[in-house]
Amino acid sequence: MDAADVEGDLVEILFTEAEIQDKLAEMAARIRADYEGEDLLLVGVLRGAVMVMADLSRALDRHLEMDWMAVSSYGSGTKSSGVVRILKDLDTDISGRNVLIVDEIIDTGLTLSWLVSNLSSRNPRSVRVATLLRKPEAGKVDLDVAYVGWDIPDEFVVGYGLDFAERYRNLRDVGTLAPHVYS
Ligand code: 5GP
Ligand code: MG
Ligand code: MG
Repeated sequence: MDAADVEGDLVEILFTEAEIQDKLAEMAARIRADYEGEDLLLVGVLRGAVMVMADLSRALDRHLEMDWMAVSSYGSGTKSSGVVRILKDLDTDISGRNVLIVDEIIDTGLTLSWLVSNLSSRNPRSVRVATLLRKPEAGKVDLDVAYVGWDIPDEFVVGYGLDFAERYRNLRDVGTLAPHVYS
């Protein structure tokens, strides 16, 4: 399978590689200003946030540390339930640290609101959330998201870390899948 075949499975490209990089540069400028002169620990949520973490951390262009968590969110079908299990915890003691959780998309927001309260209980100096994409349903949950790339409609997107059955994460763009992929 070559890259062209993967991109060929998209029916519509929502955000190109260049648009994503521009957006991350904007977000990075805000984050840099907000944390100027302060400690910063980025916490990426595996696996989807890998691409955002790689590009946002380099766009930040300042001293920072990175750590990772893997969580599974049980739910019926494709929706989160808010019942979260930690599959891989942080290797870092976050007490006294400024934690910025980095994610690629927020749908119901249940996973992240659980993660924010879990990390907040570890006595960090601060906990904030940055996400590239956010869907409308996230507004229903009590979750303060400090940095959002784009608000998008409620449709299933892939690429740039986002998967369908673990594929398409390596697409450079974000888009919607063609119907033939599902069938
Ligand atoms: P929630 O915010 O509902 O707790 O869960 C968010 C997680 O669901 C994301 O980290 C991602 O793994 C998955 N997800 C939500 N919406 C989409 C989508 O449109 N496309 C893909 N590929 N994953 C999604
Ligand atoms: Mg994620
Ligand atoms: Mg997934």
